[in-house]
Amino acid sequence: MNAASRLCEIIAQGGKVSPDFYDDDRNFAAFKQHGFMREAGVLASVVCDQCSEMHSAPVVYDQLGHGYYCPELGLVELAPEQVIAYLPDLPFLIGKLADLLDCKQRKASPLRGQTWRIGAVTAASEQIMLFFHPRLQTEDDARQLQDALSRQARSRWQLVLASQGTWPMAEIATARLDEVVALDGETGALCLLVDPTTLVGAPRVSTGGRPSSYATRLKSLITARIERGEMVDGLNAEAAQLRAEFASAYPTETPPSLATVKRHVKAARTGS
Ligand SMILES: [Zn+2]
Repeated sequence: MNAASRLCEIIAQGGKVSPDFYDDDRNFAAFKQHGFMREAGVLASVVCDQCSEMHSAPVVYDQLGHGYYCPELGLVELAPEQVIAYLPDLPFLIGKLADLLDCKQRKASPLRGQTWRIGAVTAASEQIMLFFHPRLQTEDDARQLQDALSRQARSRWQLVLASQGTWPMAEIATARLDEVVALDGETGALCLLVDPTTLVGAPRVSTGGRPSSYATRLKSLITARIERGEMVDGLNAEAAQLRAEFASAYPTETPPSLATVKRHVKAARTGS
């Protein structure tokens, strides 16, 4: 199991966990080291694997320290590190996710119940609001989530990450955390696997790609030609000159097609 999936599994349990249970798990040690898990007092119970029948027993405390009663062995002492309980540090995780996605409008505490707002991501001029809810496996989970979201300003694009389950909901995209991010067990770094824009199905308006950069540059070339009084009457003639101007201004690039240039000239002339 990869680190992100292991962390999801622990979060989905929704309570304190014993490091004993994970003592041969490299990921658990990394979670403690990098801050994904924090100490949360003493375990309420432990599992006894010292006798013939594996059983759980409440942790007791006397002047000698912590231990538990086993029907076969009597009082079994526990070393201090065996009784420390751990909890997933959700504020830490939410903060890491917000950093990874460069979110605005972050919130460091739950919105309501177990619903967290990671923050807003702006992609291609669309804003996507990101949330986290530990489990989305039952109708009740979904209702709790919707209740928390209903108190928020409505965003057109909403994405909820869950550590377990994805419940289909109208106008809210859901995805499993470990399918969206990977966690490096060595460094504790998160890495994005799928873009939120893809997950919510928001339109991808290219801002850095060729089509829009053509548009911006063609517009400024057209404006310059108008200002210099160089624009010629014929649409084809004007487009050809503009295209030649583009080619000499940006010699390393393939100039836009004549049809594209004509469309921009036409738009400039009709003021659209
Ligand atoms: Zn026992």
